[in-house]
Amino acid sequence: MSNDTSTWFTEQHDYSGSSIGFRVTQRLHSEQSPFQLIEIYDTTDWGKLMVIDGCMMVTTRDNFFYHEMMSHPALFTHANPKRVVIIGGGDCGTLREVLRHNSVESAIQVEIDERVTRLAEKYFPELCESNGDSRAQLLFIDGIKWMAECASESLDVIIIDSTDPIGPAEGLFNAAFYQSCLKALKPDGIVVQQSESPLAHLPLLKDIRSAMTTAGFASLRTLCFPQPCYPSGWWSATLARKRGDLDKFRENDAVTKSFATQYYNLDTHKAALAQPEFLKRAFAQP
Ligand code: SAM
Repeated sequence: MSNDTSTWFTEQHDYSGSSIGFRVTQRLHSEQSPFQLIEIYDTTDWGKLMVIDGCMMVTTRDNFFYHEMMSHPALFTHANPKRVVIIGGGDCGTLREVLRHNSVESAIQVEIDERVTRLAEKYFPELCESNGDSRAQLLFIDGIKWMAECASESLDVIIIDSTDPIGPAEGLFNAAFYQSCLKALKPDGIVVQQSESPLAHLPLLKDIRSAMTTAGFASLRTLCFPQPCYPSGWWSATLARKRGDLDKFRENDAVTKSFATQYYNLDTHKAALAQPEFLKRAFAQP
């Protein structure tokens, strides 16, 4: 038992009998936007922490796992990604990673809540450093509506960087939304969905995969990676492709990439493609 009297921000997960906590020094901001409660904390060891509706979104220290794995595996799998759309992603970290790829000519971020981005600009400026890139466009509207109205076969990669499937993000996890994505993608296009924890949310992960298959995607791959600030500390991104597989990627380009990463490299990409036994079994069952 420690005598430490510091304050901790703790996210409790009743469904898995576990919690995650960070020691905080102060709450820097709290506001109820039209969509959600957004809080920003300063921590002793993890930099800034953004929380939405009680769920941790990003910390300064560990966001690189998530942002790199949501973007680079898909972008190095696509032969020549030019037009990329991010649904959600208001902290702008995924947008920054996408724009590191020289092939990308246009990256549109469609975030429902402008306040998330404005607070990220203030408290996580490093994540927003590419927002002024001439290839970037920031829209503040509902991603479900935007995708339903998107021109057919106009996109190479769609990244769904959403909150959990409750509230405004609920409709980003069903077959109807994935059908809109399928229609908007070019024939060799790829969609990436943040697909929660393989350990804590396996039924939900299976539902996501099954909705993608129902929508008509030909191949799926779920890539796992560490993410300390999310439930169980282990997270996943599920890639789905209109046609062709997702096992091969541009390995030489991943090795000779012109930008630095903190987690992503040739080996972590290959390692993420390896499926643990319990996931193979779970994915083989309906
Ligand atoms: N990486 C985070 C995670 O997995 O917890 C998600 C980060 S990002 C801040 C998620 C964003 O999705 C939020 O800013 C939220 O406003 C946005 N979002 C939720 N529903 C949306 C919708 N229907 N259209 C566009 N953005 C949405």
